[in-house]
Order: sequence, then structure tokens, then C-alpha cells
Amino acid sequence: MIQTGLLIVLSGPSGAGKGTVCTALRPTMPDLNVSISATTRAPRSGEAEGVNYFFKSREQFQEMVERDELLEWAQVYGNFYGTPRKYVEDFLAAGKDVLLEIDIQGALQVKRQFPNGVFIFLIPPSLEELRSRIIGRGTETEESFRLRFGAAAGELKYMDQYDYVVVNDRVDDACRRIRSIIEAERCSVPRNIDFYRHPFQNELKSETRN
Ligand code: 5GP
Repeated sequence: MIQTGLLIVLSGPSGAGKGTVCTALRPTMPDLNVSISATTRAPRSGEAEGVNYFFKSREQFQEMVERDELLEWAQVYGNFYGTPRKYVEDFLAAGKDVLLEIDIQGALQVKRQFPNGVFIFLIPPSLEELRSRIIGRGTETEESFRLRFGAAAGELKYMDQYDYVVVNDRVDDACRRIRSIIEAERCSVPRNIDFYRHPFQNELKSETRN
């Protein structure tokens, strides 16, 4: 009997630092399989195909949607993003844990399909910090700043759909908290009882017989 892997969804408002935390987490948890999303946005400098994203045209992305190849997808600030279904399903079926770093719309879609997933809401330590992080990206016009800041502040209301909230005050501390959540979830009784009960019961029975 193979135990199903854990599906961990790291999500939260824009500017919370999901990408940075995810990048910092990866080398410290090599047994975590991080899904690579498909996107229609253009690669940023330093980004590579199949490493950061699978970069698609709008037509290619639409074809993936029509072929039901995406577990979830959403439009985020004018571009489309989606999670390739096969990678996630194959790893989970093989008992391996998978992490998705996605926006809130996507996380809510995943929750409907995987209610037993672990949903982590990453937030900035304050609205002031959120403001300076969005500005700090240096890629925002005044209008797009207002859009992102307003959207991010409004997205905080989705926190109650999640299992855990992690404040990203310092990246290392946020990573430590996320690692603790994952380790605890790996040990939870409801997740493990079916896996352990039967082999142990069989062993016990044969011991009492001897
Ligand atoms: P960026 O363009 O800065 O890499 O990502 C923009 C936003 O898209 C981030 O909030 C990121 O979490 C989200 N995102 C990345 N991949 C996916 C995905 O596969 N699905 C969804 N729903 N959001 C994604």
C-alpha cells in the first residue's frame, strides 16, 4: 500500500514574498517536489524555460485548458498562470509531496479538488511593508502599484479559507515555520492511520498467536 503524498499550497496576496520564500525553502527540503507552472507572461531576465516556468503563447495556454491539462489556472495582472496536472498527480500517487506556489484564485480551485491539501497563507508583516515591497520591485507604474496594492490588501480576507498563516517578516523565519508545518502534517494521525493500522494489526495478530 502506497501512502499518498502531501499536497502543499503556498499562497497569499501579491507582495507577500511567495516566490522568494519558495526559492529559499527548496534547497532546505530536497524531498519536496515543486511544481513548475505554465504562464503566458514573458520571461524576466535570468528566468529559464522549464526552470521558473513553462512559457506559453496565449494559444498554447488555451489549448492546455481545453485538453484539461491544468489542475487550476487563473489570470493574474493580465497574464495567465496554471499548474500542469500530470506532474502533481503522478508525484502524489507515488507517495511524494508536492508544493504549489500559486495565487489565491488558484489555491481556492485546488482546495475544491484536494480538500486534504495543506493550505498555507503567507502574508507580509504589515501594510506598510507590503507597500514598500511592491514599490521595491521597481517594475510598477503608479497605476499598476495602486492596482496591486489594493488587490493585495483586499485578498487578506481569504485567510479563513486556509489552514495556516505564516507572516513573512524574515525569509529564514518564514521558511522555518513552513518546514515545521510540513513536518507536523507528515506526522498527523488522520493522514497516517490507514497506512500504519493494517500492517501493525497484522503483526500484532501473528504475535499473539505465537
Ligand atoms: P510572477 O509573474 O511574479 O512570477 O507571479 C505572479 C503571480 O502568479 C504570483 O502571485 C504567483 O504566485 C502566481 N502564480 C504563479 N504560478 C501560478 C499558477 O500556476 N497558478 C496560479 N493560479 N497562480 C500562479
